[in-house]
Amino acid sequence: MKIDITEIAGKESAIMEISTIVNRMDLEHEILGVTLESDINMTIKLTYIKGYIFVIGQLSGLYLTNCHRCLKELGGTYDVTIEEKFALVSERTDDESYPYEGHFIDVSSLLIDNILLSFPTTILCEEECKGLCPKCGNNFNIKQCTCETQEIDLRMEKLKDYFKK
Ligand SMILES: [Zn+2]
Ligand SMILES: [Zn+2]
Repeated sequence: MKIDITEIAGKESAIMEISTIVNRMDLEHEILGVTLESDINMTIKLTYIKGYIFVIGQLSGLYLTNCHRCLKELGGTYDVTIEEKFALVSERTDDESYPYEGHFIDVSSLLIDNILLSFPTTILCEEECKGLCPKCGNNFNIKQCTCETQEIDLRMEKLKDYFKK
């Protein structure tokens, strides 16, 4: 998603405020197992300082995902505070800034990165989720199954032996 920054580009300390809804389809990117269930509310303030475009603001929306252990469908809202900057391609010397050229900044990567970072790497329905039986798929949160897990224990023993060598 490109933003025209003609209004502030090259004008020291010039500020531009944008409050808009970003179409989630515009991102054309899957956020690692998390589905964006709504478009993204974006409220940002851009400031031009010495070639950099500083971006501060807020992103929010609805998401849908599955518990990492039991696959239960989970959803909710995310609300992320962002603090980033764009540097001119020709003067960019670090990885911490996003590149821009001319009178446009493309905030797609910035949106994806920040929304992604707002989720824990392992999303669980609850901290104590017991997960699924690897043999029959039974959900241990609901009931126990009669599967023997000895086979798995044996494999674990073999693994332990392997690492001892
Ligand atoms: Zn779970
Ligand atoms: Zn089972």
